[in-house]
Amino acid sequence: MARNVKKQWFDSAEFAGQFHTELPLGAFCAKEETLFRLWAPTASQVILRLYPAGNDCEALQQLPMTRGEKGTWEMRMPEDLHGYYYDYAVTVDQTTYETGDPYAKSCGVNGRRSMVLDLPRTDPAGWEQDKAPAAAAEQVIYELHIKDFSWDQAGGFAADDRGRFSALTRHGTTLGGDGVHATGLDYIKSLGVTHIQLMPIYDYGSVDERTPESGYNWGYDPVNYNIPEGSYSSDPYHGEVRVKELKEMIAALHANGFRVIMDVVYNHTYDLNVPLFKSAPWYYYRRKEDGTPANGSGCGNDVATERSMVSRYILESVLYWVSEYHIDGFRFDLMGLMDVPLMNRIQEELDKRYGVGEKLIYGEPWRADNTAACPGTVLADKGNLKRLNINLGAFNDDVRDAVKGKIMDIEAVGFVNGGAISAQELRNCVIGWAGEGFANQAPSQNITYLSCHDDWTLWDKLVYTMDPGKNFTGSAEEILRANRMGAAINFFCQGRPFFLAGEEFGRTKGGIKNSYCSAADINQLDWTRAWENRELVDYYRGLIALRKQLPGLQDKSVEASSRILETMQVSSKCAWVTLENGGEVWDRLLLITSAEREAVTVQLPAGTWQVLVDDRSSFRWQEETLVQERCAIAPVSTLILGKLR
Ligand code: CA
Repeated sequence: MARNVKKQWFDSAEFAGQFHTELPLGAFCAKEETLFRLWAPTASQVILRLYPAGNDCEALQQLPMTRGEKGTWEMRMPEDLHGYYYDYAVTVDQTTYETGDPYAKSCGVNGRRSMVLDLPRTDPAGWEQDKAPAAAAEQVIYELHIKDFSWDQAGGFAADDRGRFSALTRHGTTLGGDGVHATGLDYIKSLGVTHIQLMPIYDYGSVDERTPESGYNWGYDPVNYNIPEGSYSSDPYHGEVRVKELKEMIAALHANGFRVIMDVVYNHTYDLNVPLFKSAPWYYYRRKEDGTPANGSGCGNDVATERSMVSRYILESVLYWVSEYHIDGFRFDLMGLMDVPLMNRIQEELDKRYGVGEKLIYGEPWRADNTAACPGTVLADKGNLKRLNINLGAFNDDVRDAVKGKIMDIEAVGFVNGGAISAQELRNCVIGWAGEGFANQAPSQNITYLSCHDDWTLWDKLVYTMDPGKNFTGSAEEILRANRMGAAINFFCQGRPFFLAGEEFGRTKGGIKNSYCSAADINQLDWTRAWENRELVDYYRGLIALRKQLPGLQDKSVEASSRILETMQVSSKCAWVTLENGGEVWDRLLLITSAEREAVTVQLPAGTWQVLVDDRSSFRWQEETLVQERCAIAPVSTLILGKLR
């Protein structure tokens, strides 16, 4: 069949009518029977192959499957095959593809073979009682990579925990094992963040699970969407182990007061040598007129989320991670490549099951011009935030770029590293470009941040723009000042504050912009640096603790922007904004930010103001420093005041 003919066929209502099915797909075992059901609508033959182990051993049996309804293929075996491994030989247009099951719940080493798994047998003790902590008044999100967390030898982790899920279950780790300076989970607990966003934990392809110690990757290269990554487990060969160990980790995070957000990458796969492609060639992918895969993702292919069996797949996968692993939210990689109806459906289904807004959903709204979606598809990019559910959020690059400068240009500067500060732009940061006349409907749609895993760390960007000597591993006071000034602005935005793990201690990757496959020692959290820059860490702690007391910033409603009362341009590098807080202690808040080289005296609005945050400390709110009429703001700093009732 000609390529473009097949593309149109896959996009057509006729195809969906003929082949869309809601039948359960995957492998299901019970005492008396195991059922295998694969959706392979274009196949002329499918053979099920059973294996005793998850490595490259010979098949025990090869069994031709029976064609079922709506493009499905079935095999029923009169026994409980829990623990067996399997794959399929799928013949389409005279080509036979050896493939795992896209609906598999676990797999052998490197995800090549699927595993029949009776899921309750993977539950750790007490799993039925596992519950996320109660919803917080504010959500503060911390982005963390499993291997980064525990790879540094100085972190004091046991050798068996380094780089693995299990490291996130341990208490009592200390710097170099000194018994004094907390690292690991205890350290993160001390920050006050409410959500940990885990970089990819599903099975990805770029690290060889047989030798995980020598590989490193962020993991934005999915192979099996519904299976945990094997290199983070203690035994990647036995599929039940990775499942159980991930559940143990999530239970530990919940028990320690964190909700868990999973980074999901449904917009593309590692390559086309994955079950999603091989079980139904091209159906799950967008294809250009010349027959090559669309590449809006920049990763070699784009998943066709607008097709009905693709959206079923993604929705079911999300719901599965919640029901089976108790995940509390999702960060959608390149959400701008996914379609609006699917994203809204995901939010609605989660709201229906768990309560409105209980599961936090947000994504990258970056626009991709060169994908090849079915004509008429509305993509969930920045221009379409108004079409998304009001609780469906997106990363806000406007705040990020205003504060530290654009990410594409290393020379570009923002408020804190030499740029001008306009009162209007400062106001827009606070409200997150949300409300009337803006792309965002409300702060509920905003994730506000200064750094994430992509691009230079905040520290490295500041060093590049401020330090001619490019001393990334230093801790120059000038850079620390700019960092504190920026952090205070970010924690004064009404969206949900987010930061990359280690931003709070001046995390550096030695100036490397895209460290997705750099060595682990470039990416790892440097626990020595966390201690050395403990004053900066404290500054973040204070901002987080204060934030939890400020209802005016917690307001995520469409009316939030009307809380802004006044803005003032003091000089080209100094401006302030006042905001209705409505709190019990402080009825108004004043954010003054100045990049001037000298201290500036600022005229204050009427009233008695308490200093909450200044250039040195974000715990001033614990003291009783009061100012009236005018006050001085230190060079390159942010000052936050609260008006006493
Ligand atoms: Ca893997």
